Amino acid sequence: VFLSVGQGDCTLIRHAGAVILVDAGPGDENFDAGSRIIAPKLRSRGVGAVSLLLLTHPDADHIGGLPGLMQFIRIGQIAAPEHFKGHPELMEVFRRANVDIASVLWLERPLAMTHEGMRLDVRLPKYIEGDADNDGSPFVKVELQGMTAVLTGDAGEEVEAMQAVESEWHAQILKAGHHGSAGSTSDVWLAEVKPEAVVASCGLGNRFGHPAEAVVERVRLHGARLFRTDLQGDIAFTPATGGFRVSAQR
Ligand SMILES: [Zn+2]
Repeated sequence: VFLSVGQGDCTLIRHAGAVILVDAGPGDENFDAGSRIIAPKLRSRGVGAVSLLLLTHPDADHIGGLPGLMQFIRIGQIAAPEHFKGHPELMEVFRRANVDIASVLWLERPLAMTHEGMRLDVRLPKYIEGDADNDGSPFVKVELQGMTAVLTGDAGEEVEAMQAVESEWHAQILKAGHHGSAGSTSDVWLAEVKPEAVVASCGLGNRFGHPAEAVVERVRLHGARLFRTDLQGDIAFTPATGGFRVSAQR
């Protein structure tokens, strides 16, 4: 479920008792999606605890919701790319959320997990200090009962091109990179993933103009359907005959 959390990301992956979140939504001194949006949405879906939370990169629209979320939802393991260990914003959010940094799973190499027929693959980009935080986002592939989805955080088109060479990323469902910004979800990447559905997670009337018109057009030309959390609410995909079933809930 690509949760509609305003201008930010929070994706819920749920199967056979496992609850995985990718990112914790936006939060700052003015508004906290963690306590105000995500926790109530998880509770209304019957989720009181998360087994694994993967934080893609230390921007406020991905990690800012964590302290508020943790007031209402139990979070088991938190994972984040090792190259962001010590990042000031991330450390500050962990401090506010009372997360012991030693308890975090710092990802240094690809992670593959299976659970009751679900497979989760996390691959890290080549990231060197000084690169944009966005480009340190891990790439995630989820496979469940014939349904496949790929998430790329806020990585830009150069990272997409590198990942396209390194791995096989074909999937029916693709989360548009960087909320549908023009610098992600490139032609090269769309040709690699060959999605049927693309989801842009963005805030209504956001000041960045996400999703960019260029992305809307590229997705259309590649024959995929575009879904938007700002207009349609939570976008949920469920395995079904022939791949998946999609439903939106405002
Ligand atoms: Zn973002």
